[in-house]
Amino acid sequence: MDLFQETKFIMNKYGIKANKNLGQNFLIDEDIVNGIVEQAKISKEDLVIEIGPGLGTLTSRLLEVAGKVIAIELDKNVLETLNDRFKLYNNFELINQDILKTDLKSLIESNLNEKLNCCKVVANLPYYITTPIIMKLLEENLNLESITVMVQKEVAERLTAIPGKNKEAGSISYSIYYYCDAQIALDVPRNCFIPSPDVDSAVINLKLLKQPRIQIDNEELLFKIIKSAFSQKRKTLINSLVNKKICSSKQEAEKVLNEIGIDLKARPEELSLEDFAELSKKLS
Ligand code: SAM
Repeated sequence: MDLFQETKFIMNKYGIKANKNLGQNFLIDEDIVNGIVEQAKISKEDLVIEIGPGLGTLTSRLLEVAGKVIAIELDKNVLETLNDRFKLYNNFELINQDILKTDLKSLIESNLNEKLNCCKVVANLPYYITTPIIMKLLEENLNLESITVMVQKEVAERLTAIPGKNKEAGSISYSIYYYCDAQIALDVPRNCFIPSPDVDSAVINLKLLKQPRIQIDNEELLFKIIKSAFSQKRKTLINSLVNKKICSSKQEAEKVLNEIGIDLKARPEELSLEDFAELSKKLS
């Protein structure tokens, strides 16, 4: 039985219909499943957190190579399938929760030990919450080695864009660049899933840096400025800084930008992470 037939078989057996509202697009391509696991470079010393195991296609491969897999799934309808499928594995734990409400810090800390000493996130993400999931993984100061996840292709290009260099960069690109080395690892056409989504996908690999890429005293202000700068599409940086009350007046914004040598007509995507860091230093 190939993965397509196996997926259909499981769905029939358990009476499961893909739930669009939960972003359910099940992987049916063996090469892609193997490719994700290869890119994540998993060993028996690794604790893997899988977000949204669905019917367990990726989980099944992860369980062969990882020390332990903790799968966090919101949909109650797939729990029986997962529990049946993996009941003989003693390295599998299933948590029925919303990933955005899960206390990942405690979960990871309580599972890491001498034998299981490294935590990696691997997932085919539910696309409707890609950004909040990635931000949670980056901002909660988790002890993560890497994040290897499937996302929409266009989103993958934004997430891996180098700020100030690639025009695809958005405010989230700065956060990723601050915390990680990021790259697109695999392109995944839409026919690798059932149901087939309307867009192509890509697997990205984020490797967490030991220290953030730059040293900054006021991280909160830095990201507040970046978010404000990007909150108003097609506005110049100056207008966004004033509208979002980061600067009290156009004159103040012009003065600060002049001082750090940034073109007054610059758009936010033209600024590097270092430029924003300079700006936040001036404004703190
Ligand atoms: N891993 C499976 C695969 O590759 O075939 C399914 C991936 S599917 C794109 C996304 C999965 O995330 C679904 O199983 C869905 O139920 C689950 N999901 C959606 N929202 C979630 C949330 N807030 N927390 C945890 N899981 C969620």
